[in-house]
Amino acid sequence: MRNVTLNNGVEMPVLGFGVYQIPAEETERAVGDALAAGYRSLDTAAAYGNEEAVGRAIRSSGIARRELFVTTKLWVSDAGEDKARRACETSLRKLGLEQLDLYLIHQPYGDVYGSWRAMESLQREGLVRAIGVSNFHGDRLVDLIDHNEVTPAVNQVETHPFYQRTADQELMRERGVQIESWGPFAEGRNNLFTDPVLAKTGAAHGKSVAQVVLRWLVQRGVVVIPKSVRPERMAENLDVFDFELTAEEMASLAALDTGASLFFDHRDPAMVSRLGSHVLGD
Ligand code: NAP
Repeated sequence: MRNVTLNNGVEMPVLGFGVYQIPAEETERAVGDALAAGYRSLDTAAAYGNEEAVGRAIRSSGIARRELFVTTKLWVSDAGEDKARRACETSLRKLGLEQLDLYLIHQPYGDVYGSWRAMESLQREGLVRAIGVSNFHGDRLVDLIDHNEVTPAVNQVETHPFYQRTADQELMRERGVQIESWGPFAEGRNNLFTDPVLAKTGAAHGKSVAQVVLRWLVQRGVVVIPKSVRPERMAENLDVFDFELTAEEMASLAALDTGASLFFDHRDPAMVSRLGSHVLGD
């Protein structure tokens, strides 16, 4: 597996496994299958309700902790300096880990600055190896960077063929922030899996649409964390390092960009209120 080097020197696999929307009761099996397939980077969140199952799968895999890269995320209802520290300790306990590889602020809402101070301390103390954010547009990202000590190592944002984030990626590059894609397949929206441009590109390489999309992201320097509950797709999604898209193919994929989210805009006031008031259960 190829790694990227984050701005504090920590190495992160360029391709990992996401567990959003995998029900808690199915997660242990799915993560176990993903680890068996060869994934070493796992992306969960307090809000996904499956950290304990991820932890069980890690323990029963027998894989050495140092070979794994585990990311989880802080939810909005835990924002703030004291609450964020407690939330990190809760996530560590649920995962059964002593250290996270990456801890992200899940949404750019609430007391982000208090959360960030807590995360800076957690990193200094060694409870987390790297800290970052998710769903931050450029303005929020730059404000956070310019008024704090630690620059986020990662910004995990919706990134797929229909919302490519090239200007955002350039801003992140200038600021030393690694872009990470969530929803690399747009969860299948916009008929992604039957898109003619993606299908034609795949046919030219003997690869599937999913593999073309992941290859295209990796080739752009974007970290990816596709989700699948099916072992054959887990293997398919890992198998993207034995071919390369040509400049012409990269240009034809670039033309698919709509420049807009297929889910929602994190700057929409209704969503700010809706997500910001969602409180996690136990
Ligand atoms: P995604 O990876 O874009 O799409 C997952 C969907 O694609 C599932 O329906 C899956 O079905 C299907 N799929 C996977 N591989 C396939 C293949 N090779 N061929 C055909 N279909 C395939 O969506 P996502 O889960 O939303 O995003 C990935 C990860 O990003 C999440 O799991 C989570 O870790 C993270 N994420 C973060 C945020 C955030 O706010 N930070 C938001 C969303 C997601 P099956 O499972 O049935 O195979």
